[in-house]
Formats: sequence, C-alpha cells, structure tokens
Amino acid sequence: MIDKKMLEFDREHLWHPYTSMTEPLPVYAVKSAHGVFIELENGQPLIDGMSSWWCAVHGYNHPVLNKAVEDQLQKMSHVMFGGLTHAPAVRLARRLVDMAPEGLSKIFYCDSGSVAVEVAIKMALQYKQALGQYKRTKLATIRGGYHGDTWHAMSVCDPVGGMHSLYAGRLPVQFFAARPECRFGEEWRESDIVSMAQLLEEHSEEIAAVILEPIVQGAGGMWFYHPEYLRQLRALCDQYDVLLIADEIATGFWRTGRRFACDWAGIAPDIMCVGKAITGGYMSFAAVMATDHVARTISEHAPGVFMHGPTFMGNPLACAVADSSLELLSDPELPNRIAAIQSILNEELLPAKRLVGVADVRVLGAIGVLEMHEPVDMAAMQRRFVEEGIWVRPFGRLVYIMPPYIITPDQLRRLCRAMLRVVAE
Ligand SMILES: *Cc1c(COP(=O)(O)O)cnc(C)c1O
Repeated sequence: MIDKKMLEFDREHLWHPYTSMTEPLPVYAVKSAHGVFIELENGQPLIDGMSSWWCAVHGYNHPVLNKAVEDQLQKMSHVMFGGLTHAPAVRLARRLVDMAPEGLSKIFYCDSGSVAVEVAIKMALQYKQALGQYKRTKLATIRGGYHGDTWHAMSVCDPVGGMHSLYAGRLPVQFFAARPECRFGEEWRESDIVSMAQLLEEHSEEIAAVILEPIVQGAGGMWFYHPEYLRQLRALCDQYDVLLIADEIATGFWRTGRRFACDWAGIAPDIMCVGKAITGGYMSFAAVMATDHVARTISEHAPGVFMHGPTFMGNPLACAVADSSLELLSDPELPNRIAAIQSILNEELLPAKRLVGVADVRVLGAIGVLEMHEPVDMAAMQRRFVEEGIWVRPFGRLVYIMPPYIITPDQLRRLCRAMLRVVAE
C-alpha cells in the first residue's frame, strides 16, 4: 500500500524518466498488474496500451513466466558469468540462435538495451581494429533514430529533433543520412537510398558500421519505412565493407508482425541488438548477436578477446524468464494473433485521420500511432486517459499504443475507442 506520505517522498526524492526534479509530471501509483490490466492503488484497472514501453508482451503476472522466475529462484538468482555457466543461459542461447536471422550465431548477454547498443558499437570498432582498418572509427545512421540513453547510443540518436540534441557538441560526431521517406506499404522510390549511398561513397573509409532500427523507428518518431531500404542498405554495406547493426530492441519478437523487423526485408545484419520484450518485461536484460565472422575476427586478433563483461552478464533469473518468454513467443498461433491486432488497430484508428488536430495515423503489426499537428499536453492528456480506464503515454506529437499481445479484441477496441475519445477532445 502506498500512502500520501510515500507519494510525497517520491515527488521529493525520486527521479522519473525524462522529468524535472523540481516540477515533476504527476505519477500514478500502481498496486498490481494482471494480464492486460494495470491496477492503480485506488483500485482502478487500466487497460495497458504501452506494454510498459514495448516489454510486457505477454501481459503482467503471467503464470508461465512467474513459474520460470520462481523455479530459478530456488536454484540461484545470480552467479558471475566469468568462468561459470548455467542451463538457463544455454537454453536461451539455443532459442535465440534458432529464432534470429540466418548467421547470427554468437551471443553476448548484457543488462539493458542501451548497454547492448554500446556493446554492438564496441564489437564493430574492435572488429575493424582487428582487421587493421584503423581509420574506420565512426558510425553512420539515419536521422530520426533512437538507440538509448548511454553515451555512444546517444551519439546515433537523431541529432536535431531527438531526445539528446541537448548534448550535441559533446557527443562523438557520427554520420547521418536522411531518414527513409518511403513508407511501409507504399511504392518504393529509388531516391530514398541516395543520401545513404552518397554518405557511404564519400566516407566509408572512416565508417565501421551503419546502425539503425529496422522498419520501425521508435522513440525517435514512430516512423515506418519501406523494407527495400534495408535490402539496399545491406548491399551497400557489403559493397563498402561496412558492418550493419540492426537495433531490434523495440521491433524484435513479433511487434511489427514478423519475428524480427529485418525479416520484412529478408536480410540478416552482422550484429543485432535485442532487449525489451525478451524477458516479457520481467527484468532488465538484453543480448547482442553477431555473425561467426565478426566474432572470429575479433577473437583471432590481439588482444584475442572481446573487452566487455558486465557484472550481471547472463543473470540466471533473467535468462530463465527470457527462455520462457521466447517459448511463449514460439506459439504457432502468435502470428495470427498479431495479424488480428493489426486489423483491429486499422479498423479502429484509421478513421481518426478525419479528426481535427490529427496529422497522420499509421499501423503496423501490434503498433498503432496517431501523429498530431501540435505537441500534446502530456499531463492533461494522461489524466484523461486514466479517467477513461486506459494507460497510454503520449510524447511530443505522438499518441501511440503497442499493447500486450494477449489483449482480447474487445479490450483492444475499448482501448482504441477511449484513446480516440480523448484525442477528439
Ligand atoms: C528502448 C530502446 C533502447 C534502449 O533500451 P534500454 O533498455 O532502455 O536501455 C535502444 N534502442 C531502441 C530501438 C529502443 O527502443
């Protein structure tokens, strides 16, 4: 039970994501969460539209995931991964290798998405160093991306409109190509790849890797682009001897309607980051997957090892729950469920294009986005959503949902309708 005093303490002492310590936005106290519902302290249930930022794809308090954690807890919650290993780590690795795009057979476990991005970047840089390509120290990416909040991850986030433009001038300077403008589902236009092609032609001698979010740019703008972009980018990376890093932290594990967003293009990156839904939202965990070639090149050149090793690497509780989460995600019925979510999102949200203030509506897989003309008043809109019994957290001009996959058609329609009621106001 959280009382008024505790809420005051929270306000006084706890930083929440992207907020002020002196004028924090309001927070709602949660008592528990079950299935698709987040239950507030006052007993009010909210239909969760956010999957707690892409993570809780199986909903909350899932019996299978609970059991995985409880069983593992009886054995050990943690042991160091240096010099030791355990069944949960190996079982999860098997599943990841089976699931991932072809060739990604080497796995590095780490603590969170941002750390996974740092690890992937270090891998790319160490790979180029191993090959004696000492000038290839930079990264290239597309504008509008989001890759996390740590230092090098920030350096490849959108440099202007992104969350980290504040740090411009202090971050390492990377190369940015134009965002692909050709949307998912539209006719492909060759002009889309020109900016990246030129960038690589002019600067590839300085570039170790291209990093991007495949198909769906998430926190940088919820933008869905054409799979052909990835196919052509893959070819360009091969042509210029540049590694391709796919950040699938948000898009992975069926969120876009395919196992991984790269699958839409039928390509495999050289390095891939996964996180968020991997543990079904049970705990912070991520993995970096690399090709045998990348891993071998790093390992066969001085210093002969990959220089990274977080304290909680391969945490057994996280591995055990991730193994169960991936088992649930292997349900052959899941693709149909995502398709059903997509068609309801289309049905319910597309009519909002007609609403005043709505600039665009887009849907892909289990993601629905309303883009407004103007930035929304987050606190006011949030309050209205809560009154309507839904949990949706807008940012900037975007009001969007990516609900847990277990949401029923009826719950999903209630979520969409409540969302549109508030937006229409
Ligand atoms: C959330 C996210 C990250 C960062 O993950 P954290 O676990 O928050 O550090 C990186 N890349 C993408 C695409 C993300 O959506």
